[in-house]
Amino acid sequence: MEKIGIMGGTFDPIHNGHLMAAEEVRQKLELDRIIFVPAGMPPLKSAHKIAEARHRHNMCLLAVAGNPYFTVSDIETVREGISYTFDTISQLCQIYPNDRLFFIVGADVPSGFHRWKNFEGITALCDIVVTTRPGHKIGKNLRDKYSDILHIIEISDVDISSTKIRQSLAEGLPVRYLLPDGVVDYICKNRLYGSWLGQIKDKLEKELGRRRFLHSLLVMEEAVKLGRHYSCDEDTLESLRIAALLHDCARPFCSEQGYPAVVALCERDGIALDPFFKTNLPLTHSVVGTILAKDKYGITDPMVLSAIAGHTFGKSDMSFVDKVVYLSDFIKPDRQPDKVRGEARRLAYEDIDGAMIYALRQTIEKNTALGRDVYRESGRALEYLEEKYGKR
Ligand code: ATP
Ligand code: MG
Repeated sequence: MEKIGIMGGTFDPIHNGHLMAAEEVRQKLELDRIIFVPAGMPPLKSAHKIAEARHRHNMCLLAVAGNPYFTVSDIETVREGISYTFDTISQLCQIYPNDRLFFIVGADVPSGFHRWKNFEGITALCDIVVTTRPGHKIGKNLRDKYSDILHIIEISDVDISSTKIRQSLAEGLPVRYLLPDGVVDYICKNRLYGSWLGQIKDKLEKELGRRRFLHSLLVMEEAVKLGRHYSCDEDTLESLRIAALLHDCARPFCSEQGYPAVVALCERDGIALDPFFKTNLPLTHSVVGTILAKDKYGITDPMVLSAIAGHTFGKSDMSFVDKVVYLSDFIKPDRQPDKVRGEARRLAYEDIDGAMIYALRQTIEKNTALGRDVYRESGRALEYLEEKYGKR
């Protein structure tokens, strides 16, 4: 008879907290092996979009590689419908009729046992192992009720969760050492969890240089803050992040390549450049930005491309994302606030259209006063907003 640990979970993605918990339980209960069972469609996890089952399965395979005691089962990922642990344990009992099964969960899980399908049935089929987990207590009720089949195992505190990893990846923050390198590579290669933001950042920093890159990062932070302030959904926040990060991606190209190269690139994409830009070459970076965002960074989201296109002059009928990116850049969060930027920032959090009207008006007035050309698109954008929302 073998003692087999069953480690169920969404594993979205699998991380070192899972691996360490499994390994410590294996050693403490002298289990012969552990089978990781990624859930196909977990019943209680509809709050976030879960990565495809095949990806979560593949990541588990990569994570357990090299540990002879660990394997991965596709029993849930190939089964149709919602993955109930009772069905899984019943199936495993048939596969391993002569072995003793230990179902392993972390301390956050038992509080939901009462919602599980046939939890009593599960306790009749296998032992239950509950490991400690930072931030979660194991209730006394559980200890009393299931004392004969329950094993509470104290393990080292590893304060890692898949939720935190997903959040970090979506914000382009480092996740190294929270999960195996092979899994990180897999995530990046398959662009899971918005991990491509990190890849965009790496590339952009090389293109823009440190100072401009920092400006872009801070514009991104401001845009996300504004988005959250206006209770944007996650998809809109992602568009905001990418657009704000890439808004100046064509700056070096436009300054360094010269007018003919810029015209040629625009013509390739069927864009006729206004003669205004002949003497204002750096200002082409918003239109060229949309081309490079597609070519170099693989961006196809029309909301992102539109916001990059409109971030310099504004445009008629701007979307929410267009406005937030325009204003976040106008505020220049990388500089000390002056009176105008301070006022634009204050307005942006109070009345986004009023802030747009203010920013466009200030831009037009300042450039006119300095004797600089003002591209007519800004005037049009201002007129449009004033007509729609009234002069403020
Ligand atoms: P999410 O944040 O998406 O819920 P998670 O990190 O909790 O992800 P799951 O796939 O939900 O990971 O968890 C699978 C199992 O592993 C659960 O029983 C959970 O309690 C346990 N577990 C996860 N992380 C840890 C950890 N850091 N320490 C101990 N147990 C853990
Ligand atoms: Mg969890």
